[in-house]
Amino acid sequence: MSLRIGLTGGIGSGKSTVAGLFASYGASVLDMDAICHELLAPGGPCVAAVQAALGDRLPVCKGAPDRGALRALIFQDAECRKQLEAILHPAAYASLEQRLQQQTTTSYYVLVIPLLVETGAQERVDRVLVVDCPRELQLQRVMQREGLDRALVERIWAAQLRPEQRLARADDCITNTGSLAQLEARVQQLHQRYLQMSRVTA
Ligand code: ADP
Repeated sequence: MSLRIGLTGGIGSGKSTVAGLFASYGASVLDMDAICHELLAPGGPCVAAVQAALGDRLPVCKGAPDRGALRALIFQDAECRKQLEAILHPAAYASLEQRLQQQTTTSYYVLVIPLLVETGAQERVDRVLVVDCPRELQLQRVMQREGLDRALVERIWAAQLRPEQRLARADDCITNTGSLAQLEARVQQLHQRYLQMSRVTA
């Protein structure tokens, strides 16, 4: 079976950027966020269940939950977040495993799973790679990327695992405090390592 790297980290730590670099070097990347988007897109398999669970607390736009409103709701109300996750996570993991069955890779898989440690998904992967970055830098990057207000980004940060708890589960770590060129060099180094490991396990 091909090597599976579980890539995780807090919001704005740099997961998508790192995943893009791995993909550019030839790794096969699957992203749980993208899968969740599909599950909640108009006509998606989780739309009806989420609407039934959250009712009129959830504004619907063009047949699907409004993403901004959904995010604001779940980071205001922990109970709503739990209800959403109870529907979404099992469906998203099932879809991820199905995609893995259907695909072959000539190198290794990078599975981007933001809540990897929170959902106990370590057993689904061979190695856990954590992207880490100081809180303030994370907040700044997210506010810049999405134009979200600071209070919401702080609530999202607070709802996630503390960085040291995530790091305690890491086999490998990327400290993303430098330039993009430095990040690229670190990802290239890990890519070589994972290629080598894939050859050993093949
Ligand atoms: P995540 O997927 O973990 O939420 P992203 O990869 O989207 O994080 O990164 C958050 C933002 O920070 C993006 O706009 C990205 O371009 C930027 N970014 C990430 N790493 C760096 C870096 N080393 N230097 C400058 N900007 C960065």
